[in-house]
Amino acid sequence: MTGTAALPLAECRDLPVLRQRGQHEVFCGLTGIIWLHRKMPDAFFLVVGSRTCAHLLQSAAGVMIFAEPRFGTVILEVTDLAGLADAHASLEREVDRLLARRGDIRRLFLVGSCPSEVIKLDLSRAAERLSARHAPRVRVLNYSGSGIETTFTEGEDACLAAMVPALPATDDAQLLIAGALPDVVEDQMLALLAAIGISGAVVLPSRR
Ligand code: SF4
Repeated sequence: MTGTAALPLAECRDLPVLRQRGQHEVFCGLTGIIWLHRKMPDAFFLVVGSRTCAHLLQSAAGVMIFAEPRFGTVILEVTDLAGLADAHASLEREVDRLLARRGDIRRLFLVGSCPSEVIKLDLSRAAERLSARHAPRVRVLNYSGSGIETTFTEGEDACLAAMVPALPATDDAQLLIAGALPDVVEDQMLALLAAIGISGAVVLPSRR
């Protein structure tokens, strides 16, 4: 608005919106996987999506050469999208293959994307079935990181919310810190809280 006099509010309302700032201009909720997988070394994030989703993750995270990745994408092909193939069956086959190869995985997140939502793939049912099949070694959960439902940190929020029902019940009054902080920041924060008399604070997600 440099160089122009401010308009009265009533006149402003009549002007067309040229550009809206805010949450619309950030990446979709899949990006939360980049910091969540660093925080949870026993977890694997399996995006059920398209090549676009795979490219987004790869370019956001960089390619890991020396370590086994802890996130990946099962690509929905045209036949899945057109309803010509049983996407549930192929998803479960891929999960079985992954878990047979990777004994270090304890938590598996099936992450919904725009394509899986458009074809209404029921990931919560798939997670239930897979959890029953792979319990007690692996717990399978699901949440949506799609750009239709989430932007940026909302994907992390959805992941944390998916973990809440599985938390152990307690009658203790506890402070729960929600959000993936770097380990060193988390340690400092817990030490500071203890120093001001708030002990027993817990963090979600936990490292294990
Ligand atoms: S979830 Fe949607 S917005 Fe995000 S990368 Fe995949 S297609 Fe794009």
